[in-house]
Amino acid sequence: MLEIGTITEVEIQDLNHEGQGVARIDNFVVFISDAITGDKVKIKINGVKKHYATGEIIGIVKPSEFRAKAPCIYFEQCGGCQLMQMDYKEQLKYKRNKVINEFSRAKVRFDESIVNDTIGMEEPFRYRNKTAFSVTENNNGIQIGPYEQGTYNTVDIDDCKIQSIEADNVVKAFKRAMEKYNIKAYDKKTKKGTVRNIVIRNNRKNELMLIIVTSSENFYNKAPLIAEVVSSASNITTVVQNINDKNTNLIMGSKNITLYGEGIITDVIDDLIFTVSPDTFFQINPLQTEKLYRIAIEYADIYKDDICFDIYCGIGTISLMAAKKARKVYGVEIVEQSIVNAKENAKRNNIDNAKFYTGKAEQIVPKLYQQNIKADIVIVDPPRKGCEKEVTDTIISMAPKKIVYVSCNPSTLARDIKLLEEGGYTIKRVQPVDQFPWTIHVETVVLMSRVKN
Ligand code: SAH
Repeated sequence: MLEIGTITEVEIQDLNHEGQGVARIDNFVVFISDAITGDKVKIKINGVKKHYATGEIIGIVKPSEFRAKAPCIYFEQCGGCQLMQMDYKEQLKYKRNKVINEFSRAKVRFDESIVNDTIGMEEPFRYRNKTAFSVTENNNGIQIGPYEQGTYNTVDIDDCKIQSIEADNVVKAFKRAMEKYNIKAYDKKTKKGTVRNIVIRNNRKNELMLIIVTSSENFYNKAPLIAEVVSSASNITTVVQNINDKNTNLIMGSKNITLYGEGIITDVIDDLIFTVSPDTFFQINPLQTEKLYRIAIEYADIYKDDICFDIYCGIGTISLMAAKKARKVYGVEIVEQSIVNAKENAKRNNIDNAKFYTGKAEQIVPKLYQQNIKADIVIVDPPRKGCEKEVTDTIISMAPKKIVYVSCNPSTLARDIKLLEEGGYTIKRVQPVDQFPWTIHVETVVLMSRVKN
C-alpha cells in the first residue's frame, strides 16, 4: 500500500489529460506534476485516493529525451502554460493522443488512422491576441500577471512569451501609471481599492484595446491614468473601462464605458473583416484560427443550394465564411453583443444570406426546427461544456447530411460524438489543431456524415 510521504523511483509512461505524468507502482496509478513521458524520476507521494495517488518530483534520475528547457522564466510559478518542459513536436503528438484517448474512452467507433497529426505553429510564440491579467498589490507594490498555479496569487510578469510584445509594453506602462498616480489595486478580502484586472486585445496589425476592470466607475486620478497609459503605449487605439463590483472570480462585469477611441477593434480572418467588442468571444490565436476555420469549411463542403447552421456562432466568423458558399446560413449565439457584431460584420462584408439569432442554442435550434427550418449542414462550435442534449437531439431529428463539430474540449466532444453516432452519424475526418501551444489544450475539427435515413 502506498502512503503519503513514501519516496520511490518511477518511470513516466504517459501524460494524462491534465498534462500530469502517469506512472504505475505495483499497478497502482500515480499522477506526477511537471513530469514528461520517458522521465525517470524520484518522487514523494503527496496524496493517496481510492483509485490513484499523486506525487511530486524530488529529483530527476534520467530526463526524458522529450524534455526541453522551458522557454519562459515564469513557467514554474505561472498557471498559464503547462507543457513548457516538453519538446514542441512531442506536445503535438500528446494532443493527438488526447483526442484518440477521449474517443476511445467514450466508445466512439473510429479508426485511429483517421485522426490526422495535430497542425502546429511554425513559430509557437507571441500568438495570443487577448490577455487577461489580474492586478493585485503586495509589499513589492503593484503586481500584474496571471494567477500562480493553483492559487489566486498574481505572478508579476513583464514578459509573457505567448502574448505580443506590444501587450507586454502595455502591462509595463499601466503598472508605472498606477504607481505614479497612486491608484490602488482591488483587494478581494477587504473589498477596498480600484483596479481588479486588465484585459488587452490586439488585432493582427497590433492595434490594441485596453480594458481596465475596476470595482467602481469613478475613482481618484482616473483621467490622468488613462492619458498617461495612452501616451506611453502608442499602439493603444481604444481604452474601455469595465465595471465589476461583484464578489466573483469572473474577470469582467457587465458594464462597459469607452474612455478613449471607439471601444472596438477590427480584425481580419480569411478575407473577412470582423468587429470585436470588449466582451465578445473571438478565437485567441488568429494564425491557427484561420487554419481551423478553413478546415471546418473544407469539411462542410457547402454547395450553393445548401442551408447551413452555425450553432454557437460568436460574432459570426464561421457563419460568414460559410455564407459565401451556401444558400443561407443561420447563426445562433447566447451573447447579445456578439450577435450585434455578427450582424454588423455581415453588412460590412456585403453578406446578405446570413441570419442571426440571440439566445440559448438549446432553445433556438428546436424552435427553428419546429418552424420547419432545417439544415443540410450543421456546424457547431460550443464552449468547453459541449452541446446541450436538446441541441444534439434536434440535430439528429433534423437529419442534416453532414455535421462539422469544432471543439475546444476533446472530452465533451467525444461524449457528443457518441450521441450523434447513435443518432445515425459516422466519423469521417478528425483534425486536431494547436491553437494553444505550451498548454494542454487542443482544438479539434470533426466531420461526421449521415449513414441512415
Ligand atoms: N464560433 C465562434 C464562437 C465559438 S466559442 C468562433 O469561433 O469565434 C462558443 C460560443 O458559444 C461563445 O460565443 C459563447 O458565448 C456561446 N455560447 C455559450 N453557451 C451557449 C448557449 N447555451 N447557446 C448559444 N451560445 C452559447
